[in-house]
Amino acid sequence: MEIWTPDSWRSKPIKQHPTYPDQAALYQVEQVLGEYPPLVFAGEIRSLTDELAQVSEGKAFLLQGGDCAESFAEFNANKIRDTFKLMLQMAVVMTFAGSCPVVKIGRMAGQFAKPRSADTETINGIELPSYRGDIINDIAFTADARTPDPQRLLSAYHQSSATLNLLRAFATGGFADLHKVHQWTQGFVQQSPQGEKYQHLADQIDQTMAFIEACGISSDNTPQLKETNLYTSHEALLLGYEQALTRQDSLTGDWYDCSAHMLWIGDRTRQPDHAHVEFLRGVRNPIGIKVGPSTQVDDLLRLLDILNPAQIPGRITLIARMGADKITEMLPPLVRAVKASGHHVVWSSDPMHGNTIKASSGYKTRSVDAILAEMKGFFEVHNAEGTHAGGVHFEMTGNDVTECIGGAYRITEEGLADRYHTQCDPRLNADQSLELAFLIADTLKA
Ligand code: PEP
Ligand code: MN
Repeated sequence: MEIWTPDSWRSKPIKQHPTYPDQAALYQVEQVLGEYPPLVFAGEIRSLTDELAQVSEGKAFLLQGGDCAESFAEFNANKIRDTFKLMLQMAVVMTFAGSCPVVKIGRMAGQFAKPRSADTETINGIELPSYRGDIINDIAFTADARTPDPQRLLSAYHQSSATLNLLRAFATGGFADLHKVHQWTQGFVQQSPQGEKYQHLADQIDQTMAFIEACGISSDNTPQLKETNLYTSHEALLLGYEQALTRQDSLTGDWYDCSAHMLWIGDRTRQPDHAHVEFLRGVRNPIGIKVGPSTQVDDLLRLLDILNPAQIPGRITLIARMGADKITEMLPPLVRAVKASGHHVVWSSDPMHGNTIKASSGYKTRSVDAILAEMKGFFEVHNAEGTHAGGVHFEMTGNDVTECIGGAYRITEEGLADRYHTQCDPRLNADQSLELAFLIADTLKA
């Protein structure tokens, strides 16, 4: 194989990449970013790899989730706090009710760049470049807004940095203390069946904490009871940004993409001989690969050999996103081939991206029933194949949005208009997410 360098991707064919009108301005911004501090650190990335190795052995479960796309307009502390709370709630449900350690990874602090199904969008006879995420262009439908602007890379960096700062404070500053489980619930969830179930579980945790302390184990000396780890991830799509944040670890000499702990390759950019795979093969971060219905067995095995030639456990997470109607048919041959290849991967289920539909009202939506059906199919396949169903990958928010239909509040196609706020794909709201967490906990326990 040819020698890898942080910029070796530049000589490969590339899909889903914007064309900047002012290349000199882009180059200058990339130079500036290259001098900025890393957002995450090599040691943290290594810890995540170790934790994902545990997941690949069935000793822990992966919960990955957050916005489809973060936005500059909706950047505020409450929104970050609410998604963080929801991740904590879901994880504590799975840990307590499912008796399984949970590795938490947010689609946060860098999830800005979006692959699109078409390069352009036409409204009322006017054709403009598609919106590609706030790190690239603006969602407003004007020629100016849709022109890729390099300054956006710097805004995305600063927003990611501030987001991470808050997440780190929440994780270790007392907010994640298991004495506070009652405080993680959102008001609007409290009255729902999930909310009541959660209150009951939180009461049991309170009792358990009191018991542990009565036995003489002080939570003051037990960080596991007071602090947590929330890792970050995003799709490594805009490679100039990723390259600029790629640094050589002084301890090991290895290269790490310090824009996030974990990076994934989208279903549209996983061609083995293209730029995105070339870039990611050289960094030591855990890598996700989206595995959609067009995935060929041979291509998947080739990807594993390119991205993980040393077969390091925890390095690769395969994120299946087939669609509820295809999962039980399309997943088994892939699972079998990977198992036979000797690669130890995490298999995770993204039950969102294969189940996007257009509601009669025109909104892009997903039904909780289809999401649930794909997840169930995913668990069934792994059960039958004797492999581990390692995790889930959700588009979700801690807020009270109405973007996916169904769930306990039975959001209808007509109801989508109430609070449809997503920048891109429809997300589960806090109540719907909690409902899924309880169902996963039941499966983990069984
Ligand atoms: C996504 O995760 O937002 C996404 C675009 O997924 P996929 O590459 O699986 O379509
Ligand atoms: Mn999406």
